[in-house]
Amino acid sequence: MSLLPAPPASRPLGVSGLSVFPIAWGMWRLAENGRTAAEAARLVHAALDAGINLLDTADIYGFDGVDGFGDAEALLGDVLVTEPSLRDRMILATKGGIRPPLPYDQSPAYLAEAIDASLRRLRTDHVDLWQIHRPDILAHPQEVARALDDAVAAGKIRTLGVSNFTLAQTDALNGFLGNKIVSTQPEISPLRIDCFENGELDRAMTLGLIALAWSPLGGGRLLAPNTEREKAVAAALDGVAEAQNVSRELAAYSWLMAHPAGIVPIAGSQRAERIGEAAKALDVRWTRAEWYEVLVAARGAPLP
Ligand code: NAP
Repeated sequence: MSLLPAPPASRPLGVSGLSVFPIAWGMWRLAENGRTAAEAARLVHAALDAGINLLDTADIYGFDGVDGFGDAEALLGDVLVTEPSLRDRMILATKGGIRPPLPYDQSPAYLAEAIDASLRRLRTDHVDLWQIHRPDILAHPQEVARALDDAVAAGKIRTLGVSNFTLAQTDALNGFLGNKIVSTQPEISPLRIDCFENGELDRAMTLGLIALAWSPLGGGRLLAPNTEREKAVAAALDGVAEAQNVSRELAAYSWLMAHPAGIVPIAGSQRAERIGEAAKALDVRWTRAEWYEVLVAARGAPLP
C-alpha cells in the first residue's frame, strides 16, 4: 500500500520570514530537579543541533502552586546571556495570560506587564511567537487584540498565537487582530484525538495556522500505558515502530506529523539524547491502513 506524504520540511511562521522545523521542543519541565543553566544549555544545544528550532516556554512554567512563576523563562534567559549567539538560532515562543492565584488575566494592563516581564527574564528584546496560554473569559477580545497589537508595534513580539482556545474564541480574537494569529496550540497526541474532529485542525488548515501539539506523548503516558485503551494505542504504534526499527515515541510524533494540517509536535523530554532523537521522526512513514489502526485504537471503537 502507498505511503502517506512526508510532512512539509518546514512551515512558515506567518509572514515573519521565519520557518519552523516539523518538531518543536518544550520547556514546561525545564526548571525542575534543580537543573542548572549549564544543564539547560546542553538541552538547548541538543534541540538546535538536531535541527529543532522552535523552543516553547511560558511564564507560568516552573510554578509549583506556591512559587516558581517565571523560573523556566529565567533559566533559558541565563542560557542566552551566557551564549547570546543561541538566540538567533531559535524561534523563541512563550506564553502568558495565566496569573496565579487568579486563574486567568488578559486585561490590557496585565498583558503589557506580563510581556515585559517575560522579555526581562528571557534576556531578549523580543520573542518570535507570543501565545495566550488559556483564554480569559472575562477579557473582551477587542481589548486583548489592542494590547497585543501594541506589543507587536513596539517590536516586542513578532507573531501571535493562541493555546487551548475554542474555535469561536480564536475567531473572535483573530477578527479584532485583523487575522494576525499564526499558530494554535491544543493538546494532541495518539491518546488525545479531539482535534481531529472538533474542527480545530480544519480551521488551522483554512487559516494557515501552525498547529503545535502539546503533550504529544500524553505527558509520557504513552510510554507507560495503564488502561486497556492506552495499551491498545501503544500496541498499534509499536507495530509501525518495530517494522521501521524506531522507538514508540518516534512512531507517535510521526503519526501526528502525517496529518494533513502538518501538526508540529512539541517534544517535552528534558533529556538531551531523547531531544536529539525526536528529529528522526521525520524518517518514519505511515500507510493509510496503519494510520487508521492507531486512530481506531484511540477511539476505542471501530470506524463507522
Ligand atoms: P510529552 O512529550 O507528551 O511528555 C514528556 C514526558 O514524557 C517527560 O516527562 C519525559 O520524560 C517523558 N518521556 C519522553 N520519552 C520517554 C520515554 N521514552 N520513556 C519514558 N518517559 C518518556 O510532552 P509534555 O512535556 O507533556 O509537553 C510538551 C510541551 O508542550 C511542554 O514542554 C510545553 O512546551 C507544551 N505544553 C503546553 C501546554 C499548554 O497548555 N499550552 C500544556 C502542557 C504542555 P524525560 O524528560 O525523562 O524524557
